[in-house]
Amino acid sequence: MAAWTRKRVSLPENQGFDRCTLDSGKPGLRVVVFGGTHGDEIEGILAANRVANTDFKLLSGILEVVPVVHEAAYHADSRFSPLDGGNLARVFPGDPNGKPTQRLAHALQTQVLNGVDLLIDLHTAGQIYDIPYLVGYIDDGRDKKGLGARACKAFGADFIWRHEARVGGRTLSDVDAAIYTEAPLPGPTDMGFVDRYYDGVLRVLAELGMIDKSVAPPPPARPARRIASGGDVDKDLQSASHAGIYIPKVREAERVRKGQLLAQIIDIEGKVLQELQAPFDGWVVVSQRRPHVKPGDSVVGIAIDDTKS
Ligand SMILES: [Zn+2]
Repeated sequence: MAAWTRKRVSLPENQGFDRCTLDSGKPGLRVVVFGGTHGDEIEGILAANRVANTDFKLLSGILEVVPVVHEAAYHADSRFSPLDGGNLARVFPGDPNGKPTQRLAHALQTQVLNGVDLLIDLHTAGQIYDIPYLVGYIDDGRDKKGLGARACKAFGADFIWRHEARVGGRTLSDVDAAIYTEAPLPGPTDMGFVDRYYDGVLRVLAELGMIDKSVAPPPPARPARRIASGGDVDKDLQSASHAGIYIPKVREAERVRKGQLLAQIIDIEGKVLQELQAPFDGWVVVSQRRPHVKPGDSVVGIAIDDTKS
């Protein structure tokens, strides 16, 4: 049976990442699992590590895991790089001559992601936002084999979020087929979601014929609810127009109606500075968690029912 190999990819500024590879020796897909693209999203890191420590009998193709994609951010317990403030998930495909975060993205893109058949990028909401337990994919015609849609269905989250457009900067941006996960986890670390993520990856591998179906856990009893949006979460979100204190009126995963009050921004005396309403019927997919907001901060986002998939 093939065994995992672990190789260190070293970069300047003490950056780099471990790349774990399990090669079946047989033709097939190359699937890559990322944990820790954002350094404060711990459950994905633990789940990716667990995958890289499981002795699968891989039936075909190559499985690769980068358990901690952004190590500097992980050690800083942060969404951002302590070296340059960069958000790794906004600078892909990177720049070999850029700042440290851009150089890291370039190395990941050119050494790991180029030519991948499916990327599984394990995020959670982190410390700033609440996000439902969801798995998302881009549906813009580039994924000719439909691997993203198949993988999302197999993964087994509460929501499947289909994005009709592709935006730049993400780990997914220059990959034809990719899925990403989110979960309402601002902390403390939730081992239950580590299990769910691990099980989800196994279900995807079984769906793709890379491991035996008997190895993967059965799908959850409740099928995922399908939601959709235009693709750029940063634009789907509504922003604060005032500095103040954010008061949510809805929670992540909640059904809302057009015009419904989603949140208020108040001043320290309680005076309402801004009210945010749902622009359409839909589901709350992002909600600001921290109290303090400033103008331009993204605070709340809605996705609609997906009627096409
Ligand atoms: Zn993230």
